[in-house]
Amino acid sequence: MDVADVDGVPAWFADHLREAGIAELYPPQAEAVEAGVTDGESLVAAVPTASGKTLVAQLAMLAAVRRGGTALYIVPLRALASEKREEFSVFDDNGVSVGVATGDYEASGEWLADRDVVVATSEKVDSLVRNGAPWIDDLDCVVADEVHLVDDPERGPTLEVTLAKLRRVNPDVQVVALSATVGNAGDVAAWLDAGLVDSTWRPIDLRTGVHYGQAVHYGDGSQAELRVQSGEKPTGAIVRDTLAEGGSTLVFVNSRRNAEGAATRLAETTDGLLDADERDRLADLAGRLRDVSDTETSEDLAACVEQGAAYHHAGLASDHRSLVEDAFRERLVKVVSATPTLAAGVNTPSRRVVVRDWRRYSGDVGGMTPLSVLEVHQMMGRAGRPGRDPYGEALLLANSHDELDELLDRYVWADPEPVESKLAREPSMRTHLLATVASGFANSRAGLLEFLDRTLYATQYRRGGDGTDTLERVVDLTLEYLEINGFVDGVHGDGRLEATSLGHTVSRLYLDPMSAAEIIDGLESSPDPTALGLYHLVSRTPDMYELYLRSGDREEYTKLAYEREPAFCGDLPSEFEEERFEDWLSALKTASMLEDWANEVDEDDIAQAYGVGPGDIRGKVDTADWLLGAAESLAAELDLGTVPAIRAARKRVQHGVREELVDLAGVRGVGRKRARRLFDAGIETRADLREADKSLVLGALRGRRKTAENVLVAAGHRDPDMDGVTPDGTAEPADPDRTATADEGEGQANLGDF
Ligand code: ADP
Repeated sequence: MDVADVDGVPAWFADHLREAGIAELYPPQAEAVEAGVTDGESLVAAVPTASGKTLVAQLAMLAAVRRGGTALYIVPLRALASEKREEFSVFDDNGVSVGVATGDYEASGEWLADRDVVVATSEKVDSLVRNGAPWIDDLDCVVADEVHLVDDPERGPTLEVTLAKLRRVNPDVQVVALSATVGNAGDVAAWLDAGLVDSTWRPIDLRTGVHYGQAVHYGDGSQAELRVQSGEKPTGAIVRDTLAEGGSTLVFVNSRRNAEGAATRLAETTDGLLDADERDRLADLAGRLRDVSDTETSEDLAACVEQGAAYHHAGLASDHRSLVEDAFRERLVKVVSATPTLAAGVNTPSRRVVVRDWRRYSGDVGGMTPLSVLEVHQMMGRAGRPGRDPYGEALLLANSHDELDELLDRYVWADPEPVESKLAREPSMRTHLLATVASGFANSRAGLLEFLDRTLYATQYRRGGDGTDTLERVVDLTLEYLEINGFVDGVHGDGRLEATSLGHTVSRLYLDPMSAAEIIDGLESSPDPTALGLYHLVSRTPDMYELYLRSGDREEYTKLAYEREPAFCGDLPSEFEEERFEDWLSALKTASMLEDWANEVDEDDIAQAYGVGPGDIRGKVDTADWLLGAAESLAAELDLGTVPAIRAARKRVQHGVREELVDLAGVRGVGRKRARRLFDAGIETRADLREADKSLVLGALRGRRKTAENVLVAAGHRDPDMDGVTPDGTAEPADPDRTATADEGEGQANLGDF
């Protein structure tokens, strides 16, 4: 089907596509059009990665706008919102206005009302619905990207409930749900009352297999020699082999740190295989990467790129990311090692994909867990550039014969899992029922049940069979819990079901109501809370993943629990209450880690002492920051008088510093390490910094001019220019160890996982 023949699509868009080399619709796209996606019909498109789902959504949205309507595009990750914004920039050029709603949970986003197309995350849409943003009420087309993520225990329920609410307020809204190939696309379509395009068509052939020993073992039973030379790793051998055929390789690993490590190693492989012209262009690219920022990351990335390799993860600046993506698409960069964010929507195909790590650390389990078939297939789907490569190839790596068999079974021959609603999980139910009542979506038990009938959960577990009353039972138990804790009123009477003022606050804060109950209880029992006590309090809520107790930890933290007993908010449980006591100890481990962080203990030392990665530290710190903020609001609401103590503990954890550095560390570009150095040089506050002697600042910042200048600008210094300033030697850090390590200030950019 020719794009220009599609009804409802403006001519400028067809022209735009033609310029981009797209004239014919891919078969699944044509099927979607035949199913009425440009006539306002709801549709689930379950097709493999890189098979053109975005275009289906664009056609639907443009047709809706042309009919005078508005469209909402829901993305699963914030990073993808700006990605889509860019992809839709051609809309703006042709009079279709696009807005992006991210960030602040509480803003009502009125300005979005006059956009034709809005891009937002499901969390953002959920909060806009909770806050009653009026434009939500007259949407014509809603696109849900990566809808298979309703299966995700953390974020799935939000997407599920959000779609249910949007459909409730807009009964005739068109829903276009884009999904990876899953085991039960039919269930998803039934849930959304939508048509279904369920296809395994791909624009380019994909061969999948496992590398083991000196050969690739393909899923079809064939083998091909791929020798690993002595001193070489299998990934290096694959990159070398691919390059010999003029192709590039994308390597998926399970953490940011691993992405960086792999790129550094693979650079040694690519370095020997570049020609002079490539070397020049790579040197030029490296220069542009260094210009992005004066940080360790810029330098590391540039050093890899000079040798033809790069890494990619969500911790990079967006300019870093787009430079890497463009150079990889042009095949200038020969290999990119990436965390799975790249599989989730960034369009960077390559001849070969290597899924190097098929397990990842899970805080939930406290150990490594295998990736789902769906995730691995999504990564594999990035292999092969249509029109450029003869085929794409995706490989896993095995270390033993048993592992070879396991990987073939587990991933190569396996079908993706069905998606299953996670809405009935207690935390999701508590949170979403409260929100549904608080936002006035339902004001009776019957109303709630009627609303929940529009969820995937109801489609999957309620209709038919004997599961009929599971939903009612879960709802009743949850309502009871919410009433006992003072978040809703009227559960037992026959009047209106209403959220209390506290219930409204909890819902607005985005907390699991059980976390709120725990926090309130802890705060009420301690009029004068300590920092450790507060860190412990938020660490024992269900909104914080506790650190796992390793063997030996039990004893250590039991001892610590007794030593620090007076510091806790609330009473230490008895050792006979085994489960509660154990939970208390795990929370204590998390709390000690947060306390160490707030006492300026070096990040690497923390990682070592607690057996965690830098990503875990960042994750805990961010969660603690958010939960302490919530605790502050709850304390204010209940007039508890502990607000200043909570605020102080929160600021310390935010910046990872002791009390005396809080002010200084809050200056943009300063951070915990630099704040300490400045403080040691006698510059103790933001005000000191604004008036500071420049050579002293430059000395304390180890002669880094650009950094010093940025910091002075941020502090509002009258004359931040560092030209001709000589660093004051007395301000330089004395400890040789500290001087020898890289400028750790930027090390913070490496925190975090994906
Ligand atoms: P998905 O969202 O399914 O992973 P994308 O929408 O990112 O896939 O599409 C992958 C690539 O295919 C994009 O570069 C897109 O421009 C291109 N593409 C989409 N439709 C067509 C088509 N009909 N003909 C040629 N290329 C297409």
